[in-house]
This record gives sequence, C-alpha cells and structure tokens, in this order.
Amino acid sequence: MASSPDGMPSPQPSRANGNINLGPSANPNARPTDFDFLKVIGKGNYGKVLLAKRKSDGMFYAVKVLQKKSILKNKEQSHIMAERNVLLKNVRHPFLVGLRYSFQTPEKLYFVLDYVNGGELFFHLQRERRFLEPRARFYTAEVASAIGYLHSLNIIYRDLKPENILLDCGHVVLTDFGLCKEGVEPEDTTSTFCGTPEYLAPEVLRKEPYDRAVDWWCLGAVLYEMLHGLPPFYSQDVSQMYENILHQPLQIPGGRTVAACDLLQGLLHKDQRQRLGSKADFLEIKNHVFFSPINWDDLYHKRLTPPFNPNVAGPADLKHFDPEFTQEAVSKSIGCTPDTMASSSGASSAFLGFSYAPEDDDFLDC
Ligand code: AMP
Repeated sequence: MASSPDGMPSPQPSRANGNINLGPSANPNARPTDFDFLKVIGKGNYGKVLLAKRKSDGMFYAVKVLQKKSILKNKEQSHIMAERNVLLKNVRHPFLVGLRYSFQTPEKLYFVLDYVNGGELFFHLQRERRFLEPRARFYTAEVASAIGYLHSLNIIYRDLKPENILLDCGHVVLTDFGLCKEGVEPEDTTSTFCGTPEYLAPEVLRKEPYDRAVDWWCLGAVLYEMLHGLPPFYSQDVSQMYENILHQPLQIPGGRTVAACDLLQGLLHKDQRQRLGSKADFLEIKNHVFFSPINWDDLYHKRLTPPFNPNVAGPADLKHFDPEFTQEAVSKSIGCTPDTMASSSGASSAFLGFSYAPEDDDFLDC
C-alpha cells in the first residue's frame, strides 16, 4: 500500500508574485496530470474521492478532489484546512488514513491518500445486517485506539460513523477529518453544531458546549449499530430521532453479553459527565471488561488477525465500492493541469500553504 513518493513537492510551500509555489524549482510540482484518474470511489460533502494511478511508478492512491468554489461558497475552508492539518499530524497511527501529499490548481484541491479498498464498514454491515460480538469488539477497539490517539493530540473527531470507517486487509482505517476540531485541551469545550443525525450526542443536539466525550458517544452508537443493525434511538423521522436521543432511555435488544450491554450503557450515557471516557478518556474504554480479550499492544501493532478478510484481488478490485460511484464517468477536468497552475484568484489565495509532502512513508502496510 505504501510507496515512495518520488518527485514530490517540497514540504515548505512559498508564495511568489501572488502565485502559490509548490516547492523549489528542482522538484517538479505535483499536478493532476501526474495521475490517471480511473474511477470515482466515493463522495464527500465537498467533492469526490477517485482511484488514481500515478504515472511515474504505477502506484495506486485514493485522491480526494475538492472544488475550491463550493468550499468557499459554504465558508468551509477552515474545515478543509483542519482536515489537512489533522491528516498531516496523524500519518503515524495504524488506524488513521495516511496523507501522502496534497496540491492544488486554481480551481481544485487534491489530497493524495493511501488507497484503502476493503470497503466501508457500513457496506459490510448492510450486507450482513449485524456482526457477532468478537467482530464488533475488534473494530470498536481499533477505532477507539485511533480516537484515543486523536484526543491525545487534542483533536476531537466529531463525525464517527460506519461510512467513515474503511477496511484495508481487514483492519480499520478511519478517514474524513473534515469535521475534526483541533486544539481542544482535555478540559476544553467547543460548541459548533455538526455531525451526522443518527450519531449526534445529546449535548450537541442541545447546542451546549461539548468536549471530547462526544466521540465516545459516537463510538457507542457505532458499536450499537454493529451489534443490532440500526443506530440506537433510530427513527426515519429525524425530529423523532432527536427526541429519542435526548429523552428516550437506551433500549438494548436481548442476546448480548452483560459486558457488551454495560459498555453500551456507559458510552451512550446522555449526561456527558457520567459517560464512559469522560474522565480518563481512552484509558476508561481500554479497561472496560468488554475488551478484556484484547491485547492492546498486539492490536496497535496489527498482530491480531482480523475477524474478516475483504479478499480483494488487487488495487483494481472495486467489488467493495458502491457501483453508484464506480459507474460514474470521471470528469475530464479532474485530470487536467491548467496552464496557470496557481493564480492569484480569491479561491487560490484562500488556500495558501496547502501543498504538503511528508518526509517518509514506511508504514501502514498490512
Ligand atoms: P470522505 O469525503 O473522506 O468522507 O470520503 C467519501 C468516501 O470516499 C468514503 O466514505 C469512502 O468510501 C471513500 N474514500 C475516502 N477515502 C478513501 C481512501 N483513502 N481509500 C478508499 N476510499 C476512500
């Protein structure tokens, strides 16, 4: 999965004559034409994710392409920069997607990410309806480890849901850092209303200041969905669902172990101060009896055999991606390098400092 990013731009971008310089002239700048964009593999709020093959070495990447215009229109560039900043920080965690580098044209931003083709957890969950406890435990532990790591960097993830949890050869890879909030110290709170309806914590719905415990609520919601096939408090009527999240006691269908029920009760506590994880964060989750079969050191080092192997035949095997995306034609403009790679237009200057290249890339292999 990892590759040597030859010919990448310098980590220190600079600005010359109002244009964005992607690196010293000795290094060729990354451009859309460096890649063959093969397939659309996903869609996010502001753009698409494409499977791309780098022409120079035949390596496959997932390239997230965002339209600057639509981001600016939505005043969301700070989220995009937060995503980039988080991606830069987290490249060394085994369960967080790695950013290889990023670049821009006057119209678009490109994130070159590790390509993860075992499919979304959501996709597998929909197909199998629910998972048995050992499988749910494995994914929950890997996700908790990634969230605990983000918290240790004072980052709240805020948008944990099965769609953002991908599988590689069977291990979890968390993507989409668009809603991350940086610089949140353990005692700090924030108040932006964001997230995905099914997974919103009560304090977010109440528009109260919230802290990192929102992520533990979401972990509880994801675990509940893995075990029961639907998120907790689910209703097709969104306002009814909000009402349920705020006021309905948690109902756990039978057939689960006491440990699983206790963990769900702890994570899905409506009072954030009473919630599991609200005091010692990840440590409380790690020490919960539900995870007693997990050796956390082995988990972190990927020494535990995943409970399920997505069995992909190779990078071109797209069987775990939704045909709704993969059958979509790839827009020609995505792979074109404009004559003026950087312009002094408003869109470009709002994203100064976007280009990035990491120093090395020797991790994340299965
Ligand atoms: P995002 O905008 O990050 O939410 O991505 C939208 C969708 O694109 C995700 O739900 C995944 O299905 C897919 N995707 C995102 N990142 C990757 C990646 N690194 N490898 C493979 N697919 C990805």
